[in-house]
Amino acid sequence: MKKILITGGAGFIGSHVVRRFVTQYPEYQIFNLDALTYAGNLENIADIEKEVNYTFVKGDIVDAAFINELFEKEQFDGVLHLAAESHVDRSITDPMAFVKTNVIGTVNLLNAAKTIWKGNFEGKRFYHISTDEVYGSLGAEGLFTETTAYDPNSPYSASKASSDHFVRAYGETYGLPYVLTNCSNNYGPNHFPEKLIPLFINNIINNKSLPVYGDGKYTRDWLFVEDHAVAIDLVFHEGKNHDTYNIGGFNEWQNIDLVKLLCKIMDEKLGRAIGTSEQLITYVKDRPGHDLRYAIDASKINKELGWKPSVTFEQGLEKTVNWYLENQTWLDNVTSGAYASYYEKQYSN
Ligand code: NAD
Repeated sequence: MKKILITGGAGFIGSHVVRRFVTQYPEYQIFNLDALTYAGNLENIADIEKEVNYTFVKGDIVDAAFINELFEKEQFDGVLHLAAESHVDRSITDPMAFVKTNVIGTVNLLNAAKTIWKGNFEGKRFYHISTDEVYGSLGAEGLFTETTAYDPNSPYSASKASSDHFVRAYGETYGLPYVLTNCSNNYGPNHFPEKLIPLFINNIINNKSLPVYGDGKYTRDWLFVEDHAVAIDLVFHEGKNHDTYNIGGFNEWQNIDLVKLLCKIMDEKLGRAIGTSEQLITYVKDRPGHDLRYAIDASKINKELGWKPSVTFEQGLEKTVNWYLENQTWLDNVTSGAYASYYEKQYSN
């Protein structure tokens, strides 16, 4: 039996990856390591917590002694590393939290893997999950490819870029077997409602304003989270050692157009007159260092591993809206308490 460590498995993307690995690979023993920060929520994976091939471990990847002890005890064969501070706005107010978890935490995991594998890398793999934001901003034309130079602009993307460099450096310097992926914006069930789509779904339900940054012309590529989990599964099992793959939805949207589409779907679902939710849109002061456009060329993973998204954006968005409407308790639980006061502070001026 292979022992696989997934970090950040109580978070948004991690929960979908944990569910997929636990259900698809009964021959693996899956360990989910998560510090349960404000973004971690065991409700996200409540449906698989009793599976015999699943173990949850609460712990902080910044704590090197704890990480070394865990690796020594469990002797993992593979690591899928998703734990991170992930919200750009929070990185602007508290960059050090991002340095600690995203940079130091990643290096702690690399060191622990290197120590237990002792140069015997047969059947071993360290998979680092990263973002397209490391590439910086695009003008109106062009796409990020795997060879685009790094040019991060926010403390979040700078910390992810740094962690990517460390992963590659451990590959070059110590021969550590790794794969790395840079993915565009994800959306779907279990997404914490500080991020655009779930935030706006929640605000529309509650008739609260929809704060759109700047002129709303920012462009992002969007991918349904379950399609990302499938891509991660493929890359973990079939990706080339010491290689990088971009993952994206072939699906670019200007923020304002996305918000209008979401408003329309929500009006239909809530039985409101079309146009009602659009009236909640308010333009707010832009975030500093805001990248104009991200767009990803995902043709390498498509050609080499045969991956492509399984749903269109309209289908994925409808599934997402349905999930939030059917899981109001989940939404209420995560929007009460600490998150509510963060939200008030963030949008109070
Ligand atoms: P998330 O914020 O929803 O979840 C992060 C998880 O990591 C949480 O469960 C949290 O408790 C845990 N965590 C945070 N700090 C930790 C620490 N010090 N020790 C242990 N656990 C800790 O994030 P997400 O959106 O699911 O993103 C997962 C990964 O995918 C991140 O590495 C992120 O950079 C990357 N990514 C995200 C997106 C996106 O659109 N969300 C796109 C591309 C890449």
